[in-house]
Amino acid sequence: MELRKAHSLSFDTMAPIAQRARGTQDLLPADQPYWDAMEGAAKNQAGRFGYQRIETPIFESTELFQRSAGESSDVVAKEMYTFTDRSSRSLALRPEGTAPIVRAYFDAGLDQEPQPVRLFYTGPYFRYDRPQAGRFREFHQFGIEAIGDGSPVIDVEAIVVGWNWFAELEIGGVSLHLNSIGDEVCRPAYRELLREYYRPHLSKLSEESRARFEKNPLRLFDSKDPQDEALKREAPHIVDHLCAPCAEAFRVVKEGLASEEIPYALNPELVRGLDYYTRTVFEYQHASLGGAQNALGGGGRYDGLAAALGYRSTPGVGFAMGLDRTAIALKEAKPAAPTALDIYAVSLEAPDELYVFHLASSLRARGYRVVFDPGPARLDAKLRKAARRGARVALLVGPEEREKQQIVIRDMHAKTQTSVAERELLSTVSQMLGGG
Ligand code: AMP
Repeated sequence: MELRKAHSLSFDTMAPIAQRARGTQDLLPADQPYWDAMEGAAKNQAGRFGYQRIETPIFESTELFQRSAGESSDVVAKEMYTFTDRSSRSLALRPEGTAPIVRAYFDAGLDQEPQPVRLFYTGPYFRYDRPQAGRFREFHQFGIEAIGDGSPVIDVEAIVVGWNWFAELEIGGVSLHLNSIGDEVCRPAYRELLREYYRPHLSKLSEESRARFEKNPLRLFDSKDPQDEALKREAPHIVDHLCAPCAEAFRVVKEGLASEEIPYALNPELVRGLDYYTRTVFEYQHASLGGAQNALGGGGRYDGLAAALGYRSTPGVGFAMGLDRTAIALKEAKPAAPTALDIYAVSLEAPDELYVFHLASSLRARGYRVVFDPGPARLDAKLRKAARRGARVALLVGPEEREKQQIVIRDMHAKTQTSVAERELLSTVSQMLGGG
């Protein structure tokens, strides 16, 4: 004991040098059960539909994102983390997952395999935006992409995978918003129609919306500025101006969702920030997040992306769920995180430490999760620690138990305890916890 103290005092303390970068977060142990649940449900739901995991690099050439997003996108205009490496290449921390996956699809020759190729992914993404509740500079997404088939039924499939993911997580209050934004045949004419509608009112628009009027008038619907609200409400909707093939595809999507019994709200204001989207767009919203950050995830069809990247024109559809925001909703739905700890093994005095450590090892060998806690300490303090860790069972060994060759086993839920001989430990624990 004296030795330990001397050791810990021998370090000088200094002020910490670094703080977490703005817009980033630490995912602490208490958060992890939620992240495990989101990852587990992602694997499970994507797997059920035959989506296979893919991981692409965290950084890519800046050009990949510039080309995919076109000139008008906010992500490219002001949100990308770019840097120049030692060979003077311009690289970017990925702001989104779809363009890299389409690149990988062609790089790896997946376009030669039976189509569509179904892929899923989880990982970190980076956007330099003003941080606020539910908006981070490093955030995480679970996404799927089905590349190589233009059928609107694959759009339905993607939406169902996402819907089932929320259902498995038991997050209530998710609403699905749906729209079609047409394609290269009908969208240009609609864009002009929208400009004609807005042109006489330009002076009434917010500055941001005036810029969008020039670059990408569809994004006028993205405005959250109250100043733009009245005009937005009366604006023509693209769903009323779809070409025949787009209208038919949209009909199939709606019919598919109805037959899968997935409720949706038609939302003519739903347009995606990136230019390569065509036809179906959708978003999963959650009331509790409120305000501008109420989207837990979204996606759509992106038949224009492959060609924008210089590849053979290839249809695709997918979604990206925001895990950081979903974690917020999940914590609200399930405030008590499930714990994975079976046993908390306590040595009450230092001389018994190795003995208890060894008992813990023999329980781990049977598959239990066991935390060892060295002595010395008071029993009540140890039990508080065991409860805090969420252990279902505590083992207690003090000098008295050592003398009688016994172990105290405490049921942490029932708050009852018994003493057993060492040789009965495994059978008693397995009766209490199952398995072993
Ligand atoms: P997007 O890639 O923009 O379609 O975003 C898909 C989902 O990712 C959104 O619905 C959000 O849940 C999440 N997301 C996007 N940007 C951020 C961010 N900066 N911070 C946290 N979550 C984000």
